[in-house]
Amino acid sequence: MAFERGIKYYTKAEGSIKVNFPEDKTVCQYCPYARNEDSLKRWKCLLTGELLLYPFLSIGNECPLKLIDE
Ligand code: SF4
Repeated sequence: MAFERGIKYYTKAEGSIKVNFPEDKTVCQYCPYARNEDSLKRWKCLLTGELLLYPFLSIGNECPLKLIDE
């Protein structure tokens, strides 16, 4: 079994992504990383795991995205 003696360290990684929100609709509803869990009637961010309370009104508190001024 892997990690029988516990995990000694973690190897970190990071990356960047770009999301195209339609016009000025910068809310989770239009983000491809928002998942609507129909059976539970809730929305979740696939990047952070955060439960999204207001996906039609805002982005998550832990959202890693930064808007780009163009
Ligand atoms: S929190 Fe950010 S990354 Fe996650 S679904 Fe919402 S807009 Fe997308």
